[in-house]
Order: sequence, then C-alpha cells, then structure tokens
Amino acid sequence: MTRRRVAVIGAGAAGTLAAIFAATEGAETLLLERTADGGRKILISGGGRCNILPARVDERRFVTDSSPNSLRKILRSWPLAEQIAFFERELGQPLVEEEESAKLFPASNRARDVRDGLLALAARRGARFLPNTSVTDLIPGDSRWRVLSERAAPLEVDAVVVATGGLSVPKTGSDGTGLAILQRLGHVVHPTYAALTPIIDEAGVFASLAGVSLPVTITARSDGRQASARGGFLFTHHGYSGPSVLDVSHVLARASGPERHSATLQVKWAALDQDGWTRALRPEGTRTVAGVIRRELPERLADALIAAAGVAPATSLAQLRKEERRRLIETLTRGELPWSGDEGYKKAEVTGGGISLAEIDPRTLESRRARGLYICGEVLDAFGPIGGYNFLWAWATGRAAGSAAGASREWAASTQ
Ligand SMILES: Cc1cc2nc3c(=O)[nH]c(=O)nc-3n(C[C@H](O)[C@H](O)[C@H](O)COP(=O)(O)OP(=O)(O)OC[C@H]3O[C@@H](n4cnc5c(N)ncnc54)[C@H](O)[C@@H]3O)c2cc1C
Repeated sequence: MTRRRVAVIGAGAAGTLAAIFAATEGAETLLLERTADGGRKILISGGGRCNILPARVDERRFVTDSSPNSLRKILRSWPLAEQIAFFERELGQPLVEEEESAKLFPASNRARDVRDGLLALAARRGARFLPNTSVTDLIPGDSRWRVLSERAAPLEVDAVVVATGGLSVPKTGSDGTGLAILQRLGHVVHPTYAALTPIIDEAGVFASLAGVSLPVTITARSDGRQASARGGFLFTHHGYSGPSVLDVSHVLARASGPERHSATLQVKWAALDQDGWTRALRPEGTRTVAGVIRRELPERLADALIAAAGVAPATSLAQLRKEERRRLIETLTRGELPWSGDEGYKKAEVTGGGISLAEIDPRTLESRRARGLYICGEVLDAFGPIGGYNFLWAWATGRAAGSAAGASREWAASTQ
C-alpha cells in the first residue's frame, strides 16, 4: 500500500504541529514554508521568551463570530495538561509559570529553543521541510490535491493542511494568501480585523506620560460590542499599549464609520472603586487632593488626571467642592481616554475573523466544502487574549488537523 502524502502549508506554530502529527500517523509529510526558516512569530513571541501556554484557561476569553460551541469543542480536543506534557516530554522543554501573569514560558526563556525544537521534532518524525516555498493555489482533483507554488514544480498530495496564519506582522511571512485561497475554494470568511494591537491618540493628549505603566481595569465599547480587561497598561509616545489595552483593542479596531466616533475607552485607574475614592476624598482635613491621589497612582499620572478633572492639585480636601469631587471620582474610576485609531496589522499580535468555524468539522478540522483539506491556526475565526492563549489555539488546531490529515482514509475530492 502506498503511503498517504500530506502537504502542510505554513511552518508557523499550527503548521509545525500539524506536520509533527501527520508524520506521526505515518503519512509522507511535506512542510511548505514561504520564508527561509519558518516559525518567525514563535521567535518574536513573548518578547523573545515565548509565552508558550497559559497556566490556566478561561475559554470565555476567546473571541469569535462563529459558534462558541464549535470553538469550545476544538479547544477541548487537546486539554491544557496534555499540551503541557507534550512540550515537557516530547520537546524536552520544562515549562515555568510566571506567577504574576499566569503565563507559562520554557525554562530556558528562549523562544528559539521552542521554534528549533518543534522543527527538529517534525524532522525526527519524518516530515520534510521545504523552505522558500510560497504556495499560490490549491487545486482539487478527482482524488488528490495539486499544490501550486512560486518557482517550484506542482505537488500532488492526498491531503492538504492550510496553516498560513492571518494578516498580522506581515514580515513574519503571513500575508493572507491562505485566506484568499480558501475563499476561492468557497469557504465563508468572516471579516478580518487587527486584534491585540496598540491604540493611537494622534492628538497626543497624554504623550507626556510615555513610559508610565500601571495595572488598570479597562473597558472598550462600541455599538453592540464591549470588552473589559484587567492588567498592565502602558502610556506610549503615540497612545496606549500593555496587555489590558491589547486585550480590548479589537472592539475599537472593528468600529468603523460613525460608530468609530462613539466608541469609547474607559479606565479604572486604581484598585479603589467609587466608594473607596469617596472615602479617601471625604471633605475633611488639610491633606491636598494631589497628596491623596499620588498615594494610589504614579505621580505623573495622578497630576495629569487631576488636571483632566479640572481641579487644582493643591486644593485641600476640606476645600474641595462637591462637583470637583464628583469629577475627580468619575475620572479616576471611569476616565475616558481620547483615541483616534489603532496600530493595525503592523503591530497586531493576531488577526480576528477568518474562516468561519462552521466551515470545518470541529473534530478533524476537515473542511466541509472540500474533502482532504484541513484548516488550522490563526487563519480560522478565533483568537484569545494575551497570555499564551493564541499558541494554545495554534497547537490544539494544528495537532487535530495534522492527525486527521495523516490518518484519513480514501476520499474523493469534491468542492460543493
Ligand atoms: C509580536 C508577537 C508576539 C506574540 N507573542 C505571543 C505569545 O507570547 N504567546 C501566544 O500565545 N501568542 C503570541 N503571539 C501570537 C502567535 O504568534 C500566533 O497566534 C501564532 O503564531 C499563530 O500561528 P499560525 O501557525 O496560525 O500562524 P503563523 O505563526 O503566522 O504561521 C504562518 C506561517 O505560514 C507561512 N505562510 C503564509 N502564507 C504562506 C504561503 N502562501 N505559502 C507558504 N507558507 C506560507 C508564514 O511564513 C508563516 O511561517 C504573538 C504574535 C506576535 C506578532
């Protein structure tokens, strides 16, 4: 009997896992990659340390326009504990939790060890790596697929796994070709948008605070969409960044037209809530407004927020007028940040939207439109927050697609 031949398109996080698992099933596996080396997002992930997984998973934090039920089924196909065991045992990378962020990193703190380790494991399992191979189209035949690439002869294979990623950080190799190919093959693509991307304020209202960072609770709202996050916030020269900003940025990135003007970004700057601030700023004593607020917040930020509330910092609590106190508390607990745009795909850690999860079988990730075609990773319509969630998705979907593509039986290619 001849061996099944599987082409995996894209040697990123999802594709490398797909190649490992297709080869493990005994398939002759070809891993086609546009760049010279592959896995470039792994290399730059987690500031070069690779936040490989979250220490705990809250499935509700994933975002999709597809069925959340399909998303959960896919995620649960490879539970976190098994993923951790895979990296520790198969890759020989002990994982260490960074407690304050609940992120898992390789003990070596080197993303390169993860990228190189995965490619080496794929090679050991028998997958053949074809770098500098940019796939331009996939043509279904009677019982096989034809894979067309720039400057290379077409390949005939039994199954194809598309793991070409989204549109974010195009210099890492992902430019949306895979999405276009899948769309041509009849798949529904939910509109794509930049996610986990910094927010810009062109007016530079808080530019003088660049470099100030602190933990906050932040909420982005637009017509019909809302997201909240708690975590690090960073003032930049152009606007705002940090995990909490990135986690809610998609709401603003998706607001277009008139909706864009009404979309808001609100911040609760300190642990104190409305009642807490009401007590801290009660009208008695000679302490100044600045003195009280600087105890809870970085000094430069405290001063900027007091100014934004239109209050003189040297005002003593006893002198503070009721209306001034109300404005201060409002600014400190629901302060609205001016914004004018986002950094887009250039800086986005992921792409939102993509191939609808309704287009794939959640167990095998085989396309419902074209047999023998499997889809995994960021090209699908789902992303998670900062914290290892996006690799969790890439590893789980890559493994499921690769195993099914490598193992599946006879089929007759059919596009509907
Ligand atoms: C700066 C940054 C930091 C990040 N840090 C983290 C983190 O710490 N933790 C986390 O969980 N997530 C992180 N992410 C997100 C994570 O990197 C992605 O979610 C993940 O890499 C997606 O995997 P993928 O395999 O689907 O796509 P990609 O990793 O983008 O891989 C796609 C691959 O396909 C190749 N390709 C594309 N088109 C073609 C074609 N036509 N022919 C051949 N090859 C093609 C590309 O060259 C690329 O190698 C980060 C992202 C960025 C940008």
